[in-house]
Amino acid sequence: WRAQSIAQQKSKSNQTAQILLSEFRQASATPLQRLRQVSDDMTAEMHAGLLSEGGSQQLKMLPTYVEHLPTGDEEGLFYAVDLGGTNFRVLRVQLGGKEKRIMNQEYQEVAIPPELMLGTSKELFDFIAKTLADFVATEGEGFDAHSGHIRELGFAFSFPVLQTSVKSGIVIHWTKGFKIDDAVGKDIVAAFEEAIGRKGDHIRVAALVNDTVGTLARGRFWNEDTMLGVILGTGTNACYVERADAVAKWRDPPPKSGEMIINLEWGNFRSPHLPRTFADEEVDVESVNPGDQWFEKMVGGMYLGEIVRRVLAKIAQEAGLFGGSSSPKLFEPFSLSTPYVSKMHSDESAELTEVAKILEDVFEIQSTTFQERKIVHDVCDILAERGARLAAAGIVGILKKIGRDGSTTNGSQGLKNSNGKTVVAMDGGLYEHYAQFRAYMQAAIEEMLSETAAKSVVLELSKDGSGIGTALLAASHSQYGTVF
Ligand code: BGC
Ligand code: MG
Repeated sequence: WRAQSIAQQKSKSNQTAQILLSEFRQASATPLQRLRQVSDDMTAEMHAGLLSEGGSQQLKMLPTYVEHLPTGDEEGLFYAVDLGGTNFRVLRVQLGGKEKRIMNQEYQEVAIPPELMLGTSKELFDFIAKTLADFVATEGEGFDAHSGHIRELGFAFSFPVLQTSVKSGIVIHWTKGFKIDDAVGKDIVAAFEEAIGRKGDHIRVAALVNDTVGTLARGRFWNEDTMLGVILGTGTNACYVERADAVAKWRDPPPKSGEMIINLEWGNFRSPHLPRTFADEEVDVESVNPGDQWFEKMVGGMYLGEIVRRVLAKIAQEAGLFGGSSSPKLFEPFSLSTPYVSKMHSDESAELTEVAKILEDVFEIQSTTFQERKIVHDVCDILAERGARLAAAGIVGILKKIGRDGSTTNGSQGLKNSNGKTVVAMDGGLYEHYAQFRAYMQAAIEEMLSETAAKSVVLELSKDGSGIGTALLAASHSQYGTVF
């Protein structure tokens, strides 16, 4: 009778778990109607943010001062430094003009020591300048600076920055777990160049860019229909090409091109229509930036695993999932990273053996029932679908702002390239490596747009956009000319 009562107990707790799961599914749902509200709110906030400084509480709508997107004609050797996620990268590209394009490229990737994310700007930039100097020193065959000593660099700094020129800008605040208080309110390029100076290297910052802008530039280099750059990685954000005269808050002389690239900083978007749950609330409250970046915290890779973990922990506590609260790891913040979510989610085996393995490796939960593993799989699915659909709603909101969502007849609202296609350049690990996430996004975009509009909008991976694209922007804003 004992075995039977354990079995009964298990089945009862499984029922409770199923109830909690279906409540959570409900709370996270993004039916079409809701997505439309979210994308309409995004469009409305974009308008507000362009009107005046602080016109939107949520979207900063930052003019980037980027006047020349790369055309393919760029030539010469250019460097880039890419700071903004878990890893930090330095790279160089040798550009050979229209015919040859990217002749050669090399990069090096380093994990940022976690203490530097919460330290001082001097510590952070000394580390970066040192890595850069070591990398420049390895410049060899296949790379040619022609003119000799001065090398030019694009700096991808992927945090909210109030740009004061294409190569200067003031840090507004930090995101994604970085918090370096002394840098806020100061010119980030000056801080970087001082550190470079301390090392005595001959390298100058030619462009300061957000990673979304690098991604857009990398997309445009290969395809002139590229109008948006979107990052779905550790954090999330988007930029797009706007008509200069639509930027009412702009006080300087208008750019010759008549166009401006605007960085939304959509990570900080919020809307009463966002399906926020208890887990989102907890993640926000316990973060280093409570109250900020709600959209990012529901979509970005830094938080996805953590939200999944919190949901599982709750089902464990309240319904005895995994035999109750037996695993301390399950209750440890950030013990589950997003690549594991992606791996569990893509487990198509009949017994969900990959899920079992990861539960064991990550949470040290030894034996699980199929029902338990199925719940884990479902939670991953629910949250990836939610994040992907919200990101899609954001993109549709931007398309609507520039008249490319098929809802108006005057196509591109005066933007130059309007030969029918609108390319959205995409970068970031979530998009690149998480197939289900990508598929949910694509499906949501098709669901939201008319059939014709959906055909004209192309999401394209702009691989390495933030790095390569940033080097390309250094080239198109070079002070020394790109041809020596
Ligand atoms: C930052 C953005 C950045 C995005 C993606 C966000 O946290 O605020 O500037 O583009 O992450 O890296
Ligand atoms: Mg990046």
